[in-house]
Amino acid sequence: MRRRTRTRMDVCSFFIARLCALLLACLPIVAGATELRIGVLAWFGDQTAATQWQTLGAALQAHLPHTTVLMSYHDMNGLEKSFAAGQLDFIITNPGHYVVLEARHRATRIATQKIEPGRDSEHVVGSAVIVPNERTDLRTLDDLRGKRIAATVPDGFSGWMTVWAELKRRDIDPERKEVTPLFAGLPMSRVIETLDRGEADAGILRVCLLEHLVRQGRLPAGRYRVLSPQEPDAPCLRSTPAYPGWAFAAAAQTPDALARATLVALLSLDGRDSVLRWGVPADYHPVHEMLRELQVAPYEFLREHSLGAHILQYWPIGAGLLAFLMLWLLYTLRVDALVQRRTRELSAALAAREELEENMQTQCQKMEHMSRLSVLGQLSGTLAHELNQPLATIGNYARSLTRRLWSGNLSEEAIGQAAHEIAEQAERAAGILDGIRDFARKRPSRREDCDAPKLVGEVVALFRGMLVHAPEIRIEDKLRNEKHSIHVDRLQIQQVVLNLLKNAYDAQVEIDRAGQPIDIVLEPEDDRMRITVRDHGPGLPDADREHLFEPFFTTKPDGMGLGLSICKSIIEAHAGQLVATQPDDGAGLRLSFTLPFAATARHDAT
Ligand code: ADP
Repeated sequence: MRRRTRTRMDVCSFFIARLCALLLACLPIVAGATELRIGVLAWFGDQTAATQWQTLGAALQAHLPHTTVLMSYHDMNGLEKSFAAGQLDFIITNPGHYVVLEARHRATRIATQKIEPGRDSEHVVGSAVIVPNERTDLRTLDDLRGKRIAATVPDGFSGWMTVWAELKRRDIDPERKEVTPLFAGLPMSRVIETLDRGEADAGILRVCLLEHLVRQGRLPAGRYRVLSPQEPDAPCLRSTPAYPGWAFAAAAQTPDALARATLVALLSLDGRDSVLRWGVPADYHPVHEMLRELQVAPYEFLREHSLGAHILQYWPIGAGLLAFLMLWLLYTLRVDALVQRRTRELSAALAAREELEENMQTQCQKMEHMSRLSVLGQLSGTLAHELNQPLATIGNYARSLTRRLWSGNLSEEAIGQAAHEIAEQAERAAGILDGIRDFARKRPSRREDCDAPKLVGEVVALFRGMLVHAPEIRIEDKLRNEKHSIHVDRLQIQQVVLNLLKNAYDAQVEIDRAGQPIDIVLEPEDDRMRITVRDHGPGLPDADREHLFEPFFTTKPDGMGLGLSICKSIIEAHAGQLVATQPDDGAGLRLSFTLPFAATARHDAT
């Protein structure tokens, strides 16, 4: 069966050769062509490649007498550059590289190299993974997990890529360090040297090289064996699938006629040398598949889109972003902590301020109270004497009644008159005491509507009741009947008026004018009421008047200097003003203050 197939193929080759010779003779267009530029991939440098491929150049030249065949040799990059630059009509390169140039520069294969006469060109390239025979632990390719494997170069097709793909299919990925490739370089014999030195567990050779070296006696038979042979009975053992051979490809701009003539020449070549054996173009689809699996050129874009590739490519940006995020997070946390701390501090400060204000209010109330007591204290020097008067009168009436009773001339009329007098004097004493008790009482501030003339009258009564020789106090009421009411803390305003009266009296006593009358005037002023206390004392120099309302300003030996400053704060708390002026009509001093009428005060409060 096999022999019959081969015979049939030989017959086909014979007819193809004859046909080509005929076509060659009939192609006048080639006669016009001058140059045929062929670029060849040179693994071992120009010299070696030239020696290897010169036979082909000469054979083509012989078949194309009217054309100058120019062979040039390049490494992978050089060949691609020259091809892309349009400097070559044809290229000869390995299957992997051809697929790359096909994808990138539209290279079109016109023939595929055959290794042996009669064998197809589809299955000629492959690799054998060899291991020292004594390594009984290594039976199949799967046993290579975690081992070191000697290869030629990273972009070698049969020197590395074919085995890489095979290992990957078995889920052994060199890129995940599941096997360690050791690249020994070219020529391929270096792989065997690495194995001989024991530096690697396995090595990769192109198919048939092991058998060739053994045949030549350069390697003892049985020293190395092939792992996982795909066709155990074949004369050459392979560990990988077989791929198409080297490609002879035309550039996109190569004229069809030239390509045809070259193809015909190639197919008609024959000889022992493998560089002269070319067949119809093979299907390079398996090579495409393999390179796609490996995600290498021309399929490197697949790798670039994988997550891992993105991470590898963009990790500095990612790290920067992460660092920025961390810093931002730290900054936010710090700001948050600061805000919370400041809020706490602010709350504490507000609480402290509220407490302070409360304390101040309490202290103010205490001071007002003290001030009232102080005024009373100063005025009450004569209080006992003042109270003595009604008490003495009561006593006199009581003794007179007793005497008349004993003498027997006690008339009903006398009893009635005496009882009436006693009751009046008792009421007068009680009135004085009530006023003092009321005035000295300690109680929280409270505002109410008060009749101003009445309030002033009560203070005058209190003041006069406390002095033995009280001066005359004249009250002039200029208010209209309907506007008498003020909305105030009655006791506080009484305190102010009493303080002004006491100061007025003191001033007059100072220049022996204690008997001079003191004037009080109540009058309207816009929407306010003005109350003025005017005395006939020595008055006050301008310099002193500037400090009149300052706390602790006093000219009296026993004075505290607090009375007027407290009066000023009381009046201002009632939205009024306290001022001191010199009277236009003579000596003395006018102290006057304003207060809003009751209706205005209530309107302002709402
Ligand atoms: P004190 O009466 O304890 O001195 P005041 O604050 O009531 O405190 O008065 C402060 C000072 O203002 C007095 O010492 C006095 O010198 C002056 N003064 C107050 N009223 C008058 C007035 N009617 N005439 C002159 N001087 C006055």
